[in-house]
Amino acid sequence: MTTTAIPADRETWERLAAKLHPQGRAIIDGTATEAEDGRTFDDVSPIDGSLITQVARGSSADVDRAVAAARRTFEAGHWRRTEPRERKKILRRFAEAIRADTVRLALLETRDVGKPISNSVSVDVANCAACIEYYAEFADKLYDEVAPTGPDDLALIRREPLGVVGAIVPWNYPLIISCWKVGPALLTGNSVVLKPAEQSPLSGIRLAELALEAGIPPGVFNVVPGYGEEAGKALALHPDVDLITFTGSTEVGRLMLRYAAESNLKRVALELGGKTPQVVFADADLKAAAYDIAWGIYYNSGETCHAGSRLIVHEAAREPLLEEIRAVAATITLGHPLEASTQMGALIDGKHMQRVLGYIEGGVADGARVRLGGHQALKETGGFYVEATVLENVRPQMKVAREEIFGPVLSVMSFSDEGEALQMANDTPYGLAAAVWTADINLAHRMSQALRGGTVWVNSFDRSTMATPFGGFKMSGSGRDRSPHAIDKYCDLKTIWTAYR
Ligand code: NAD
Repeated sequence: MTTTAIPADRETWERLAAKLHPQGRAIIDGTATEAEDGRTFDDVSPIDGSLITQVARGSSADVDRAVAAARRTFEAGHWRRTEPRERKKILRRFAEAIRADTVRLALLETRDVGKPISNSVSVDVANCAACIEYYAEFADKLYDEVAPTGPDDLALIRREPLGVVGAIVPWNYPLIISCWKVGPALLTGNSVVLKPAEQSPLSGIRLAELALEAGIPPGVFNVVPGYGEEAGKALALHPDVDLITFTGSTEVGRLMLRYAAESNLKRVALELGGKTPQVVFADADLKAAAYDIAWGIYYNSGETCHAGSRLIVHEAAREPLLEEIRAVAATITLGHPLEASTQMGALIDGKHMQRVLGYIEGGVADGARVRLGGHQALKETGGFYVEATVLENVRPQMKVAREEIFGPVLSVMSFSDEGEALQMANDTPYGLAAAVWTADINLAHRMSQALRGGTVWVNSFDRSTMATPFGGFKMSGSGRDRSPHAIDKYCDLKTIWTAYR
């Protein structure tokens, strides 16, 4: 395990990036392997449109090989029968290996996704290691149950691993979301096949290499990179996969349920899209609200499922709040993601950038007004950047108020009373999160109970730890990542009833 010092300047990051030869092969049964048919796809960086490397284009044949390896190791029990204390040790070693590899992992993440390197270091890699460490601790501390019975019987209720877990993840937080799934899946003794998004395959591949180095047996954690329609679909349709744990769009989440129905009725856990409302009452601390609202939409360039993309503000507070938001946005540095001072980087690719710009244009055509930003930025880089944007005069029925833009675009609507605020906030098919800002504790209490979302923040935004569950109501999904609650997704309950005679 080697630890490299975290560079402080772009020059050093670029020098390290030039020396980094990312590994783009699948990891199947402990071995880096090309796709069976030899095909690859281009992994392109949104920072400047340059080619990073060729990556194995997994097909159903590769998924079959990975699932077979996962099944074989699961049945052999190399991992699930490992003593809990030993499993904890290995998972902790895995977390340490992730930390020791921070520089490389952060570079892989930033070059694939275009996010600022400082975020990749201190948020993505750090949280990924913390997640594995968190679940490691359960290995020798999680008890099963004994049910109440009569004196001549013993009923044990045991948690058992499901078997082969297929994990399909998106490109916005590849490391964190992979670990949210791999952590509890491995803790409980499952074998895993991870399918990273085609836009960001490299950190997931590296993660599997680190797991092997840490002592997780070959075949327990496999990675098959490739396209959703090919590798992803094959994994979700596979008859020998016991669970698909999916994070991505609501549209593809719907397909996961269909694939499960068409194959083996595998379990499906879904973490999907969002359109989070930030509800601000006139008595709120507008300075504090503005700070969190700006960062809540501009962090990760708005490519966050729970980004606070709808601002629903009391009409009396609208003008002062928008001025405060503009002041915060002015302090957020949009720039080259390897520059240490950059706080907002690139969008994932050209197609997505055009989609985001299309939403802005469409919003204006529908009657919204650009209050801030609204344009492509840093064109000369060849990368895909969009300015921090505020759209005002938005009405609830407009597309920019209803659909997930997944970019740095805040849609502003206003209300005149509590009932209208609640109605607007809940008027969405999504239910991932919500926030309410007010100095009135009773109002905060009423709103936090009535808002429909997996997380409701009060006078704050995006605060969380591994100890709090994360996931959605309504069409934002089912099941939860993080916290002890996530563990249940990866287990079946078995009752063992013994009669004493
Ligand atoms: P996406 O749904 O297009 O892709 C997600 C994953 O599914 C990728 O690995 C992709 O290759 C795969 N996929 C695509 N089509 C498939 C198919 N037909 N069969 C099987 N797999 C397929 O989503 P995205 O564009 O990568 O990510 C953005 C979306 O993810 C947004 O909607 C965002 O809100 C959501 N998201 C949700 C959470 C959450 O926790 N709720 C977190 C992050 C992102």
